[in-house]
Amino acid sequence: MSSLEQGQIEIHTENIFPIIKKAVYSDHEIFLRELVSNAVDAINKRRMASMAGDCEAAENGEIDITVDREKQTITIKDNGIGMSSDEVKKYINQVAFSSAEEFLSKYKTDDDQIIGHFGLGFYSSFMVSKNVEIRTKSAISDCQSVNWSCDGSPNFTLQSSEKSDVGTEVILYLMEEELEYLEPARLKTLITKYCDFMPVEVKLEGETINKRDPAWRKSTKDLQDQDYIDLYRYLYPFQGDPLLWVHLNTDYPYSLQGILFFPKITGRADWETGEIKLYCNQVFVSDSIKEIVPRYLLPLRGIIDSPDIPLNVSRSALQSDRRVKSIGSFIAKKIADKLISIKNENPKFYTEIWNSIAPFVKIGAMEDEKFAEQIEDIIVFSTSIDNTEQIKERSDYILSDTEVFTTINDYKERLPKDSARRIIYCTDEISQASALNLWKAQKVEVIKADTVIDTQFIPWLEQRHEEVTFLRVDSELDESLKDEEKEITDKDGETKTESLRKLVKKALNNDKVTVQIQSLKSSDAPPAMILLPEQMRRINDIGALMEQKLPGLPEHHVLLINSKHKLIQALVKLKSGSVLVASDEISPADSLANQLVLHLYDMAKLGVGGLESSEIIEFQTKTAALVGCLVEKAI
Ligand code: ADP
Repeated sequence: MSSLEQGQIEIHTENIFPIIKKAVYSDHEIFLRELVSNAVDAINKRRMASMAGDCEAAENGEIDITVDREKQTITIKDNGIGMSSDEVKKYINQVAFSSAEEFLSKYKTDDDQIIGHFGLGFYSSFMVSKNVEIRTKSAISDCQSVNWSCDGSPNFTLQSSEKSDVGTEVILYLMEEELEYLEPARLKTLITKYCDFMPVEVKLEGETINKRDPAWRKSTKDLQDQDYIDLYRYLYPFQGDPLLWVHLNTDYPYSLQGILFFPKITGRADWETGEIKLYCNQVFVSDSIKEIVPRYLLPLRGIIDSPDIPLNVSRSALQSDRRVKSIGSFIAKKIADKLISIKNENPKFYTEIWNSIAPFVKIGAMEDEKFAEQIEDIIVFSTSIDNTEQIKERSDYILSDTEVFTTINDYKERLPKDSARRIIYCTDEISQASALNLWKAQKVEVIKADTVIDTQFIPWLEQRHEEVTFLRVDSELDESLKDEEKEITDKDGETKTESLRKLVKKALNNDKVTVQIQSLKSSDAPPAMILLPEQMRRINDIGALMEQKLPGLPEHHVLLINSKHKLIQALVKLKSGSVLVASDEISPADSLANQLVLHLYDMAKLGVGGLESSEIIEFQTKTAALVGCLVEKAI
């Protein structure tokens, strides 16, 4: 070779250099990832070649990054396979150039963002450099070392050099506006971000920066729980420990490794962008990969490493890619397998993590039929059944320290064959306490469905279990809770129930409230309670959900008056004992009866959280007046 060769890189379409410099990347920083990846490849190639006896092995593959502040250069040096003069011409002038060109043509046709801007390779160095030099010596013996230099135009020079050690140095002469990369702290951050798990030591000014050792590439046999926890803590510092993890490893029909963690969710989970990091052969690509995992798995964390995810396509193309879709279902299946095995093998632990995993599982079931079929039998609800010795013996319940859980299928199995096929649920143990207690007193099993998602999940479950209906504790009362009383007719030929209903209706003077008179079995049953018929309440819940507020008390509701209660019986007596007065006057007894009815209604509303805070003060004032009036009568 003549000592100096000049040439022109053949331009096929248009001059790509200015495009690379300006248009392609907002993230200029990825040049470092691309160059270090090339260096890793070169080191691997040398290792392979030396094993085949084609060249001498390096003692230890190593990449060294140094900075010269005066010359404003960054040098990335490796002891890999190196290149001969012919190889430089072929790989740098042609291969590197045409892969860059191919990348750009794809890039230009896709208006959408490309994940991680992966694979522009060597030419990405021109994003930050006004001049790039390569000094290289091939590991194949007797090769002359060469220097290649290019100023960002298609012109290059190539000449023999004196480099004595095998490997490649890429020297970047930084552009004025890119001098930030001379800062070691900046470079260190980039090495940690992109190259942390690369399999070769990356040094900055002599100091090893990258961690290497990617746990997800190891066999599960060689990993202890602590290794997973350490990886999680390393990736997501100060976020507590993970609840559980799933190790992914497959070679067919695509290659994919990874570890996904279920975080302990405190506060809101991230259902939008996710925090799973995508790697390609241990090189970091992106930490927003919502196109790859199903939406319901976005709050998971961890790493997916696969060379088979197409990265140089737009995000929207990625989403509809068949392979990506099957990777998504593979991940979902592995997660389901893991949860099923925990429930079977360690049910107590399962109950401990259930609250945290329930949102993923329930949303996943609603969004993905295949997932739903898989995890149907691990969706559990806390039930009102007391944790007794008999319960402990049974396999259709799972016990935690404080609660008893069941699946819907097991609940159904236990329903008496001849009774109404109903699953009774409670969404708020406090505001539904009166109704809940009635069911509990009759030993009816009530499941707790008190998470936000349950508002949608219960109707979804109902569709899948068509032969049963789901009934909230306070929607209506079952026959078993009612006490059948003989009707007594009063002197006007009206039943007691009828006259009581009239009295209440009149006092309330509100058409939207349906009055129901019923004698209740339970001795603890309150004198009055609000019932919210199931369908009416669901419409109200959905409306509230759409307006993103908590559902209040629906305008239309039922006021149930428990005629067995002493207070109600007293009310009846008070009314029937009232003396007749002139038609335009109200007798004192009538007025007291009115006051009592309104008070009962307020109490019932208070019980279901149906009183506004301003109404509570009013309620206090009215209570004081009413009690005062009754005490006066008693003296
Ligand atoms: P890619 O790595 O995707 O092939 P690049 O543009 O990054 O594309 O590089 C083109 C080619 O240049 C590589 O395939 C390799 O043969 C050669 N090359 C780049 N960097 C080095 C290096 N540090 N050592 C040896 N060869 C290299």
